[in-house]
Amino acid sequence: MATRLYTHPIFLEHLTPPGHPERPDRLRAIERVLDDEAFSALDRVKAPEGDEKTILYAHPEDFVERVRAAIPENGIVSIDADTSASPKSWQAAVTAIGGANAAVDDVFEGRAANVFVAARPPGHHAEKSTAMGFCLFNTAAIAARYAQKKHQAERVAIVDWDVHHGNGTQDIFWDDPSVLYCSTHQMPLYPGTGAKSETGAGNIVNAPLAPQTGSDLFRDAFLSRVLPSIDAFAPDLIIISAGFDAHHRDPLAEINLTEDDFDWATGQLMERAGRHSGNRLVSLLEGGYDLQGLAFSVAAHVGRLMKG
Ligand SMILES: [Zn+2]
Repeated sequence: MATRLYTHPIFLEHLTPPGHPERPDRLRAIERVLDDEAFSALDRVKAPEGDEKTILYAHPEDFVERVRAAIPENGIVSIDADTSASPKSWQAAVTAIGGANAAVDDVFEGRAANVFVAARPPGHHAEKSTAMGFCLFNTAAIAARYAQKKHQAERVAIVDWDVHHGNGTQDIFWDDPSVLYCSTHQMPLYPGTGAKSETGAGNIVNAPLAPQTGSDLFRDAFLSRVLPSIDAFAPDLIIISAGFDAHHRDPLAEINLTEDDFDWATGQLMERAGRHSGNRLVSLLEGGYDLQGLAFSVAAHVGRLMKG
């Protein structure tokens, strides 16, 4: 079985204001780097249309309808200070969910060794009832609940190495011990949550990193906090909230990882997926705003996924 890659042209049509870091060029940079013949064995599939009903797995209906009503007919509107929507944003967000849920189906039904979903908008800042931080709906949270409802997964682990804390994912699973949420992130930094003391129902594991943290302390956090938590939890599925803004080139944060660190972390999670989850591993793009740092990091991440 091959590594599957979900993309869709609609992801380029979610528009943000000029100069906004979360821009369509991010996906063009990823497409270019994955065009290399080193990735010719990737199983490239267009993300299917998402099922809007699955949004309700993580968000209440009144919030979903608020987002739907905010989508403009023309131009770009602000949802909050740094989150915006354009006419195709709804379709992009729902297709991102379609790709993530299809990836879950693929790993449970044996159609893919593992899956990377290169979608935007990202999702991990979206709380139950708040769109924020470039995110409309929490794609990773929806996919986790989808795995539980459709495939009877009892325990799902979400590992979030985006440089920002995934406040939304933490909010959604705060009192739900069937989902483990582990995050490495810079602190202090937007959105301000993610202290070690935030533990939910014992299912939230935050590993905050000081500005200027490099490879060694990142790997220490993974080895001492993230991986032991996964071992204790023994998930049926691992979902990665794969942001690449902890790369040293990224303009939004001050963590100094290289693409080798993402290669390494990917390998560690694949090993855990093999040990606990029948190799079921789904990776969803979150942040990453320096086009070169993003492209090289995705290449390292996907290249490692392909090594199986
Ligand atoms: Zn981020």
